Amino acid sequence: MEHYNLSYPINTVSWDGKVVTRCSDECFLPTCRTLKQLGVNELMVTGYVTVEEADFDMMEETKRLGGLLDSMGMRPAQHHGLSAMYAPQGESQDRVIEKLIRSIHYTANMNAPVLVIHPGQVDLHLSTVEEYTEYFSEQIRKYGRQEILKTCAANLDTAGEIAGKLGVKIALENVELFAADITLLRDLLDEVKSPNIGFCFDSGHAHYKSASVLNCLDILQDRLLTTHLHDNRSVFDEHMPPGFGTIPWIDIIQGLWKAGYDNTINFESGGWPGLDKETGFELAIQFWRACELLAKKN
Ligand SMILES: [Zn+2]
Repeated sequence: MEHYNLSYPINTVSWDGKVVTRCSDECFLPTCRTLKQLGVNELMVTGYVTVEEADFDMMEETKRLGGLLDSMGMRPAQHHGLSAMYAPQGESQDRVIEKLIRSIHYTANMNAPVLVIHPGQVDLHLSTVEEYTEYFSEQIRKYGRQEILKTCAANLDTAGEIAGKLGVKIALENVELFAADITLLRDLLDEVKSPNIGFCFDSGHAHYKSASVLNCLDILQDRLLTTHLHDNRSVFDEHMPPGFGTIPWIDIIQGLWKAGYDNTINFESGGWPGLDKETGFELAIQFWRACELLAKKN
């Protein structure tokens, strides 16, 4: 893949941790138009989640948004949702599966080929990421790592069957515990039987949480479905455009090639800062194209 198709995020909803609210079309359409002008036809759409309530009908709204983007010759490269992966061990998993299936429908409604979710999220409404992480760790301490991963994998397999019928794949992102210990995600994906479940490589999380960003990509390369590419200085999650942090982008591109990755490159960052929207995106795209060129030469 000499030149990847590129995709950037747009904000179509906002949320405060309690309720999801719809943004007006004018919040995101200018970004869509700018990207389209620059030859980018794909977008990252975030936030049709099943964790919080919404003040609108998500099923209808995702259909409308899919139609609107389609009328502009655009589509989401991925839908970043949030949906629980397991209910506390020993309890019925039915609600988890129902929510995963609902998330798959939202994704299909928008013509997005991939739903990205965070692994290890329990079906409880906790307040912070740390609380979800602690709950997952506690379940592992109580019932064992393999038992908890088995429960998650069984739920994913059931959801994966429906996803396949709707032309959607589910990608699990390396985030928090699953970024710090990449073997956790490797073992979970090894436990999953459905071919519709795979990996979303988040370069930023790997760079500041894992021992090596390239090693993270290497370990899960056979399951790679989509990406969250963004940069940082290896200390915290800065979500900067590639080139402003310390990630070796030429090596990353060569790693993606080695993995045989030929889907869209989805950035989880915007254009270069401090510039008008068009120039900012233009420079970000030029930087990426230059890296692709250098990756080929070296
Ligand atoms: Zn991400």
